[in-house]
Amino acid sequence: ERLNNDFQFIEVGRKDPKKKLLRQRKKEFVEIYEPFKPAQASDQAHRCLGCGNPYCEWKCPVHNYIPNWLKLVSEGNILAAAELAHQTNTLPEVCGRVCPQDRLCEGACTLNDGFGAVTIGSVEKYIADTAFAMGWRPDMSKVKPTGKKVAIIGAGPAGLGCADILVRNGVTPVVFDRNPEIGGLLTFGIPEFKLEKTVMSRRREVFTGMGIEFRLNTEVGKDVSVDQLLAEYDAVFMGMGTYTYMKGGFPGEDLPGVYDALDFLIANVNRNLGFERTPEDFIDMKGKKVVVLGGGDTAMDCNRTSIRQGAKSVTCAYRRDAANMPGSRKEVKNAKEEGVKFLFNRQPIAIVGEDKVEGVKVVETRLGEPDARGRRSPEPIPGSEEILPADAVVIAFGFRPSPAPWFEQLGIQTDNQGRVVAPEMGEFKHQTSNPKIFAGGDMVRGSDLVVTAIFEGRQAAEGILDYLGV
Ligand code: FAD
Ligand code: SF4
Repeated sequence: ERLNNDFQFIEVGRKDPKKKLLRQRKKEFVEIYEPFKPAQASDQAHRCLGCGNPYCEWKCPVHNYIPNWLKLVSEGNILAAAELAHQTNTLPEVCGRVCPQDRLCEGACTLNDGFGAVTIGSVEKYIADTAFAMGWRPDMSKVKPTGKKVAIIGAGPAGLGCADILVRNGVTPVVFDRNPEIGGLLTFGIPEFKLEKTVMSRRREVFTGMGIEFRLNTEVGKDVSVDQLLAEYDAVFMGMGTYTYMKGGFPGEDLPGVYDALDFLIANVNRNLGFERTPEDFIDMKGKKVVVLGGGDTAMDCNRTSIRQGAKSVTCAYRRDAANMPGSRKEVKNAKEEGVKFLFNRQPIAIVGEDKVEGVKVVETRLGEPDARGRRSPEPIPGSEEILPADAVVIAFGFRPSPAPWFEQLGIQTDNQGRVVAPEMGEFKHQTSNPKIFAGGDMVRGSDLVVTAIFEGRQAAEGILDYLGV
């Protein structure tokens, strides 16, 4: 009878998984959401209207078969749902946790119009977590080996997406990463309160079981040369991300007590995971007045990491208003709940202090006319300067590509912003100007999302398969 209830979306409201108690949450580096119970997942999945031409699927960058797997979950058929979810997504358990669903699938849900969108992300996470706990693993029994092998530089979402498609088509991927664990920014960037690290270590086991080889603690260009990879492998995929920190270009950025966002986050992860080389590497916000500059996901993660380290206060200053923040709405709300104070329309113009940071000088802004891309630029209001007191400042202005010295030597073209040119629509998808080398993810798109990096890695793998003629 339940399965025929067309009005489930009215009778059962949208309900996100429960969050842990705030006072506990603010101290721990563990995920803040409780997992769905089976009945909750099926009730929520059953709210889906099964739209004939589902907008959610188009808006999802990997074009997941969302209504189809929601139906399977509503029927309690988790293993079939996991099988289907993996047809389009390499890391459904990760995307379910960290995608900005409010701007993607859930934002496009027909019910996101008063009734409350289906909790697509939480169901996707539930599918993969539950299937793994039940012992499900991708079925590789029909894969026919081709004898070909491809070197992948970078074990981030782009590299993993590429490896997933290659191995399922009988090509052996060997993934090189300079880090001691796979995941790229999923491990050394995104904090544990959004994505616990056991999620990636479990994935490593699954991938290894599928036949993907990992060579960790190995930097390409230092520990192994690209020439060697080109000689030994049938093709190379680069998913190396973007690691040049953007600066504010104002005075005082070099004062002691001013940190780059990723240095702060990585030091925290390294301590929690036992990868810390020396205790001096750790950046400790305990008892400090912290000011975080920026408004994206990275800024939100720095805010909430500072809270968990026991900062005295955390203030986030952003030069546009709340509506124009690039970060996920859900995470801004979580940061507010945890005690982060937001100052909108404040542009930093200097970091002040004698021998170390003492404050950030900001000026109030108002939004000007829309620019060519339709984005309204902040304009300073004269005479509105003030100093925000600070013992520590974290700069989270984003990242620019970091082209390697060997790109030029191998004829790999970059654009005027340093992004590798590897078009989706070329002769072979995501091929660079060196025919044997393919690329995808942040190093091609500029800093973006986990799910877009996965998609590009998967698309590039299709390009590589065509190039290899397998
Ligand atoms: P990366 O994840 O950066 O992986 C690149 C890998 O290549 C790294 O492991 C690096 O070590 C390796 N590498 C590079 N050069 C070499 C070399 N020469 N030899 C060997 N290995 C090499 N996105 C979301 O969707 N949701 C979020 O909530 C979110 N939060 C974020 C929070 C932070 C703090 C940051 C920094 C980013 C966040 N993002 C988020 C963005 C997301 O993490 C990235 O868009 C995504 O990880 C890009 O994937 P990628 O595979 O292209 O690169
Ligand atoms: Fe939504 Fe991201 Fe999952 Fe697509 S991958 S359905 S956008 S959570």
